[in-house]
Amino acid sequence: MSDILRTAPMTLESTDYYNMDDLLTEQEREVRYRVREFMRTEVEPIINGYWERAEMPLELIPKLVALGITGGQIFGYGCPGLSNVAMGMIAMELARGDASVSTFFGVHSGLAMLSIALLGSEEQRQQYLPKMARWETIGCFGLTEARGGSDASHPETTAKRVGDAWVLNGNKRWIGLAAHADICIVWAKNEETGKVNGFIVPTNTPGYKAVPIEGKIAKRAVINCDIYLDNVAIPLENKLENANGFRSTALVLGATRIGVAWEAVGHAMAAYEYALDYSKRRMQFGKPIAGYQLTQAKLVNMLGKLTSMQLMTLRLSQLIDAGKITEGKASLAKAHNTAEAREVVALGREILGGNGILLENHVARHFADMEAVFTYEGTHDINTLVVGREITGISAFA
Ligand SMILES: Cc1cc2nc3c(=O)[nH]c(=O)nc-3n(C[C@H](O)[C@H](O)[C@H](O)COP(=O)(O)OP(=O)(O)OC[C@H]3O[C@@H](n4cnc5c(N)ncnc54)[C@H](O)[C@@H]3O)c2cc1C
Repeated sequence: MSDILRTAPMTLESTDYYNMDDLLTEQEREVRYRVREFMRTEVEPIINGYWERAEMPLELIPKLVALGITGGQIFGYGCPGLSNVAMGMIAMELARGDASVSTFFGVHSGLAMLSIALLGSEEQRQQYLPKMARWETIGCFGLTEARGGSDASHPETTAKRVGDAWVLNGNKRWIGLAAHADICIVWAKNEETGKVNGFIVPTNTPGYKAVPIEGKIAKRAVINCDIYLDNVAIPLENKLENANGFRSTALVLGATRIGVAWEAVGHAMAAYEYALDYSKRRMQFGKPIAGYQLTQAKLVNMLGKLTSMQLMTLRLSQLIDAGKITEGKASLAKAHNTAEAREVVALGREILGGNGILLENHVARHFADMEAVFTYEGTHDINTLVVGREITGISAFA
């Protein structure tokens, strides 16, 4: 057992009511505690200020590099080659600390790096992944269209082959990290084949513009942008070699949606832990509010939901490691967990009364951020329809 496992002091106990830790390997436990400690010491003390000012904590980048988790489950190319269960623990502990940092990491290390690892050529992997593992090249992921994200398989953004270049035109929305990224994985309809292709677009290419979206009430410490692509010409070799249809995009989303399911677990844990702690300290009518039956019922409701989420999602991650995952299985956990966690964070906020809407007590941040988690990487509705299609064999999308 490493020192960090013995000493991991948390402000609050990390909820593990059914001893999920016992089901982890030593490596998975170690990475979980490493990330938890990082969030406790480096992120929690500074994050509320960034969230309130709607700024990204770029000061964390060298510390994220040192944490050694970037590129998570990718083997080689300077990446740690972790198990999918370990990746789940990372997503859970990042979100338990803060959602913006979790997205910050997830967009770069998950969406952008996995697109290249899963769909790129060997040359593309060699060229981008080692630098991305060190955050020398920052990546973002441009799938959502300005006029609607749910129908992601029919992008309005187009790619046309002109001589020895691909020329991209279109308008993307909500693209996380885009203001700071060096490359954007842009998904566009190939005008010749009609299929969705992925392209590695350097963000300094003429005609590429990223404009931050202001006024967000969730994930305020990560910047999301509108992206404008106006005759953006990139070399032919920047097309992701194996991204030849929306099935390829879905492969990346299937992997990252499981990370989002774990993020929801992390938010639920944080809300429960803050609410439990507060309820034991807050005195009303002469005794702690934790001593009243209604408060206990709320806490037990929260604990039941988060424990079932933990165990369900752990099993899902084990299924990926065993090669038994399907798109529907990933979507079920994303839809289920985000719906349950949304209720848990609302109950947590409620238990803190008026103090529950103050940033300084942290639950408010999880409460607001959870709204974005419910919606991104496919809304609750869309992930429900993905499962519906898999179990009935009938697509209800169109
Ligand atoms: C904080 C944040 C970060 C994000 N980061 C990224 C990113 O980095 N990269 C990226 O590409 N995208 C990103 N997104 C976009 C996200 O994936 C989309 O917001 C999401 O897919 C929904 O698209 P939309 O917002 O256009 O909603 P719409 O597609 O317009 O949906 C509106 C509503 O209609 C419902 N709906 C749509 N179709 C159906 C149907 N067939 N049946 C029933 N209901 C339906 C939806 O469920 C939803 O409730 C991010 C979003 C947020 C909020």
